[in-house]
Amino acid sequence: MAFPSIEKDRRGPGPRPNLTNYRATCRAFSYDAVRRELGRSPGGGFNIGYLALDRQLARGLGGHLALRWLGRDGSVRDFSYAGLAAEANRFANLLRRLGVEPGQRVFALAHRTPALYAAALGTLKAGAVFCPLFSQFGPEPVRTHMEIGDASVLLTSATLYRRKVADWRHELPSLRQVLLIDAAEDAPEGTLALTPALAAQSDSFEAVESAPEDMALLHFTSGTTGRPKGVVHVHDAATHHYATGRFALDLHEGDVYWCTADPGWVTGTSYGILAPLLHGVTMIVDEAEFDAERWYAILQDQKVSVWYTAPTAIRMLMRAGAELAAGYDLGALRFAASVGEPLNPEAVVWGREALGRPFHDNWWQTETGGIMIANYAALPVKPGSMGLPLPGVRAGIVERAPDGGVVEIVEPDRVGELALRPGWPSMMRGYLHEEARYRKAFAGGWYLSGDLARRDAEGYYWFVGRADDMIKTSGHLIGPFEVESVLMEHPAVAEAGVIGVPDPVAGELVKAFVALKPGALEPGHEAGEAAEALARALLGHARKRLGPAVAPREIVFRKSLPKTRSGKILRRLLKARELGQEPGDLSTLESDES
Ligand code: ATP
Ligand code: MG
Repeated sequence: MAFPSIEKDRRGPGPRPNLTNYRATCRAFSYDAVRRELGRSPGGGFNIGYLALDRQLARGLGGHLALRWLGRDGSVRDFSYAGLAAEANRFANLLRRLGVEPGQRVFALAHRTPALYAAALGTLKAGAVFCPLFSQFGPEPVRTHMEIGDASVLLTSATLYRRKVADWRHELPSLRQVLLIDAAEDAPEGTLALTPALAAQSDSFEAVESAPEDMALLHFTSGTTGRPKGVVHVHDAATHHYATGRFALDLHEGDVYWCTADPGWVTGTSYGILAPLLHGVTMIVDEAEFDAERWYAILQDQKVSVWYTAPTAIRMLMRAGAELAAGYDLGALRFAASVGEPLNPEAVVWGREALGRPFHDNWWQTETGGIMIANYAALPVKPGSMGLPLPGVRAGIVERAPDGGVVEIVEPDRVGELALRPGWPSMMRGYLHEEARYRKAFAGGWYLSGDLARRDAEGYYWFVGRADDMIKTSGHLIGPFEVESVLMEHPAVAEAGVIGVPDPVAGELVKAFVALKPGALEPGHEAGEAAEALARALLGHARKRLGPAVAPREIVFRKSLPKTRSGKILRRLLKARELGQEPGDLSTLESDES
């Protein structure tokens, strides 16, 4: 292995990590104990909105800062737990006044404004289902997602409404009301201005006495492998959000926590709203998009102690250079974690060198609703590994048996499909309106993730690739992540995406698309001799590290790589373009420069 494990200094500053003895914690763990700790509302209900807000007021946290919102223009708005609860209650009362019943769907297509967060919590308290959409979706995915989800109410802004919804709004019979966050009294016909409507509502609301199995959230997957699926989650998901906030994110009382994900993706809701509030910590929300200097300033000025972000952002910070980070005091940062894509070992180590903390990779999916496998605060980090399963989670590596069944691979280091034994509370309860597809995800008592991985002798899981992205060349099965990670080691490389292209002899050949760091090639030399020499150097580096069978045969440079709006490299699009094929559903594609 190129990168040794990163051992932790247990006597370092800060509180004692929540998980120190992994095995003992796993043995002692039970979700029922977590449920008992969370408790229920006085009427016996189990409602995420109640647990995130009212429970904290009952614990005396009413005056504690729940949400600090940082506006794009430099403005700041603070909400205590009591203040956020009051806003959520107004929203819940408004839903009730509009006739929204428990179980009905409230969609949000909104920028990261305080109203979005209050609406999410108010929706949950009202027993309705919160369905966040990413505000940068085009009109078509907005419409199809709202059709799939039978939207009753849409929360959005006047501009987003005009651009993305107004044209077809009356063709969606289930859609009863559109609430416009920023409209004044002049809201267009068929819409309601949110601010005056909320002002007329009471700021107290008793949470609906939901049952743990009642539907609470509808999330759409990222669409990396095809058309996004609508994933159903229930109120009991809070049990897992709470447990993982403790063990995987190491949340402690008094923490200032920043999750950079947008609530339009599952991370931005499970861990950008729910887990921090369930723990009573302060969460930071930044309205603006990624900007390296702004992000370092937030980490410094807000004294962020726990930070949850994604590999794409980390790679952009690496691209901006460690010198930039050195200009900020990041001393408050105790724990940094990453999810969403494979985190290259290079990035883990860079975190420790440039920010003073290694990134802790963790793995999960929209379907799992919460973190399943993680690197922990007190345990050594193996750079490039996703870590160990969470207490309460039973993971395995499996393969299909000839009889169509599924068998677990027990010997270490063999690649197979990453699978989980169902039973954790945030597991999806269905793909909405896609029962057959849902059933296909299970076999032999396992939930099959569609990702390939291996487990080492110490039980750490290593991501190999999505089953769809695997490359078969001359009898070898190659995961793109391994090749991309090695390319990332080269100082000129900012990002890499690797695919297989058909070859009559080898079956497939490995081809790499690489985005370079600024300055790697002199301006004007992106093509020509200097570029060819750099490509040769990269090929040489890859061959030395991976051997000729696994190293790419060809490397081409791109300004950037195509990604989903949640930041995942779209290898299927690189491949379709390479082969001149139809790319399939691109509703979640972020514009790219290819
Ligand atoms: P779709 O299912 O629509 O194709 P998607 O799988 O990208 O999209 P998400 O649920 O947002 O949608 O992403 C989950 C996937 O992201 C995982 O199955 C895995 O492939 C990838 N992923 C998440 N975390 C990690 C990680 N730490 N390392 C490697 N891959 C990860
Ligand atoms: Mg998926």
